[in-house]
Amino acid sequence: MSADEDPGPPSPRPRLRVAVVGAGPAGIYTAEALTRQQEVPVAVDLIDRLPTPFGLVRHGIAPDHPKMRAIRDTLHRALDHPAVRFVGNVEIGRDLSCRELHAAVDAVVYTYGAALDRQLGIPGEELPGSLAATALVAWYTGHPDADRATVEAALARARSVVVVGVGNVALDVARVLARTPAELESTDMPQHVLDALAAAPVEQVTVLGRRGPAQATFTTQELRELGELAEADVLVDPADLELDAAAEERVAADRVVARNLAVLREWAGHTARPGRATVTLRFFTRPVRLLGEDRVAGVEVERTVVDADGRASGTGETTVLPADLVVRSVGYRGGELPELPLDPRAGTVPHDLGRVLRGGAPSPGEYVAGWIKRGPTGVVGTNKHDARETVATLLADVAAGVVRPGGVSGDDDLVTTLRANGADPVLLEDWRAIDAAEVALGATRGRARTTLHEWESLLAAVREAAARAR
Ligand SMILES: Cc1cc2nc3c(=O)[nH]c(=O)nc-3n(C[C@H](O)[C@H](O)[C@H](O)COP(=O)(O)OP(=O)(O)OC[C@H]3O[C@@H](n4cnc5c(N)ncnc54)[C@H](O)[C@@H]3O)c2cc1C
Repeated sequence: MSADEDPGPPSPRPRLRVAVVGAGPAGIYTAEALTRQQEVPVAVDLIDRLPTPFGLVRHGIAPDHPKMRAIRDTLHRALDHPAVRFVGNVEIGRDLSCRELHAAVDAVVYTYGAALDRQLGIPGEELPGSLAATALVAWYTGHPDADRATVEAALARARSVVVVGVGNVALDVARVLARTPAELESTDMPQHVLDALAAAPVEQVTVLGRRGPAQATFTTQELRELGELAEADVLVDPADLELDAAAEERVAADRVVARNLAVLREWAGHTARPGRATVTLRFFTRPVRLLGEDRVAGVEVERTVVDADGRASGTGETTVLPADLVVRSVGYRGGELPELPLDPRAGTVPHDLGRVLRGGAPSPGEYVAGWIKRGPTGVVGTNKHDARETVATLLADVAAGVVRPGGVSGDDDLVTTLRANGADPVLLEDWRAIDAAEVALGATRGRARTTLHEWESLLAAVREAAARAR
């Protein structure tokens, strides 16, 4: 080019192509953090194995908490950004391998959550009538992979329920099981879930904590709600609320623990009113064996003591609680994605500030955020800070030249590649069709929405909307 030739407008800076694997809160906050910064132009593909976004906000947060579930309206704003493309119904590891995905974009952020349950590791755990909270929650929130037959068979006989664990998920489960049909009527639960819960003969729910109330991880708001159930009374043994010096210290140091204790003390010594269900909170008690021949009939439990470090140990004093249904809620863990490292004990992907570590060394262009990064702790908002940390690391790698925008060899569109591989991606307008179908289904019974719970009905909503548009 000669000196007086017009160079024309500067060529646009290449976009950083990022694939985010998992459209739960962590994935959505990652997309948001990427599009909010000005340093590097981006194009984000937000991939999920489900044809619907929001992860556990849709299939975890209890349906009788509509205000909490409304957070999806806020999350939706990130999906509407022009630089973000929702690519649902695509499972990484099945429709495209991690390696293929990595080769198709400049960077991948894994935000696929921690959806597996942890086991109690006690005899009888495999008996029918013993469920993981993950299975029950998936069912009542209408997850399309929920095992309907197993959950409904267990619920049909569930007069006495034992919930193992004293976190918020355990309280969600206890509360949902103790609610009346009228209390659940306006939720977005699928109709078969409402029908099965209405038919379940639940009379008593016992929540077991192996340690004391000072070590329980539930929050005060969730706890207090148990006392507001329409037709169930909360029972607590006052002896469980007597604190030793270490527990007193925790109460003094932690406002949540102090508030929890205050709520529990209001209930201590109450007796059940006739004709009402009960929710009993039993502390210093751990299950040692599920009893029953061909299905759960009871739980042998052991009294514990808690040492100064908060560790529980058995006293040898055992008793049997009647139980037709046992729900274990003792934590979630992340599963392995083929070709991605996983620390099997922690159930998380090893990382340094969000950079995936392979053999202890950072793997260029691979990142992680959310539950699969830090484990299953914290509320939805915790994932926002977490995603920001990971995006800051990714941008630092771009600035350092470790990740180059436009650095991938081909410029094939990811969705085109997926379709060529036989996948059937569900895009944002398709999700909008599912959303509209759920609102329309809810309206038939005077509800704001009813969750579509089958793969077939979810994908049919997409097909029908596409046919109408033609
Ligand atoms: C039962 C329950 C109730 C909760 N209630 C509350 C509450 O009331 N309030 C609150 O603040 N927090 C609550 N939480 C916590 C909150 O839901 C989590 O903090 C948050 O959802 C974690 O976000 P995440 O994006 O890491 O994982 P997830 O929300 O699990 O999202 C992961 C996404 O990845 C997708 N995915 C998985 N594998 C693949 C794959 N191979 N390819 C493509 N996509 C994949 C999944 O379909 C999912 O959409 C609750 C959690 C649970 C389990």
